[in-house]
Amino acid sequence: MEGTCALCHNYSDLLESHRIPKFITRSIKKHSFTKRLRNASDPNKPVQDSDKDYLLCATCEERFSKKETLFNQKVLQPFRSKRLTSFNYDEWLYYFITSVSWRTLYYDVMEADQLLERGFNEKSIPAIKQAEQNMREYLLGEKKFLENIDNHIVFIHEENVLNNSSYDYSTFCNGAFGYLYGQKSTGSLYVLHVLAGIMIVSIIKKSPAERWKNTFVKMEPGKIKSTQIVSSPVIGELEYQKEQIAKAMKNMSKSQQEELIKKIEKDPEGFLKSSSAIKYKKQ
Ligand SMILES: [Zn+2]
Repeated sequence: MEGTCALCHNYSDLLESHRIPKFITRSIKKHSFTKRLRNASDPNKPVQDSDKDYLLCATCEERFSKKETLFNQKVLQPFRSKRLTSFNYDEWLYYFITSVSWRTLYYDVMEADQLLERGFNEKSIPAIKQAEQNMREYLLGEKKFLENIDNHIVFIHEENVLNNSSYDYSTFCNGAFGYLYGQKSTGSLYVLHVLAGIMIVSIIKKSPAERWKNTFVKMEPGKIKSTQIVSSPVIGELEYQKEQIAKAMKNMSKSQQEELIKKIEKDPEGFLKSSSAIKYKKQ
C-alpha cells in the first residue's frame, strides 16, 4: 500500500507491521494456551481481528527491526529462558524503548480529540504532541537524545520491588499490551508497555514522588543491574491489569472460553492487540 510514512513522512510503499513487535507475540505463542488466556483483560470487549497497520516505509521499518533483534537476543530471551536480569547494553536499548513508545503515542496524537474523551485534560495534549515529535526526531537521527523524556526497563518477577509489592513472573510473562497513561492528580504522563514479562516505560512527565532504582536506560552504553525497586503511579497499572485478568478469567463461561481459544488460534497477534485504554486514578 502506498502512503505517507508516519516516521520519515516520505510518500512511498508502506509495509504492514505490528503494533506490538512480532518477536514478542512469537515468544508468547511458544507457551501454553491457558496462559495466553491471561491476556483477556476485558471479557466484554470483542477480540480484535488484527493489530496490523500500514505505518512505516521499508527504510524506517529497517531502522526499528535491527534494535528489535538486539532486544530479543540480549534481553527478552535471556530473561525468559534463564531469568537473567542484569545485562550490558548500548544505544540500541534506548532506541528500542523509544520506538515502541513512539508507535503508541503516534496513534494517540492522530486521535487527539479522543484523548479528551478518554479523560486527559487539555493541558496535557501539547505535552503529548511534543513528546511524539521529540521521539520522532530522535528516531530519525535528527536529534541526539530525547529532551525531558526518561526511558526505563523493569523486569516483572519475584525479586523486584514494585510499589512495595512483588509480582510473580507468571503474572505477565504471556502478556503484551501498551498505552499512554496519565494520573490526573499529579498531571504525570507515561507511555508503558508490557512485553512478555518486561515492562518498558517512557516518562513524559514525572509525578513529584517517583523512585526508579536500576531501571534507568541511558542513551549511551550502560548496564542494568538487579535488584530493581520502583515506586511510581505507573506501577499501579500493573495492579490494575492483574485485577482485570483475574476478573476476566473468573467471569468467562466455559463456552466463551472455548470460543476465545478458537479465535486466538486463528489470530494470536490480533488477540494480543495493544490496548488504548486509559484510566485515571483519583488519589
Ligand atoms: Zn519512513
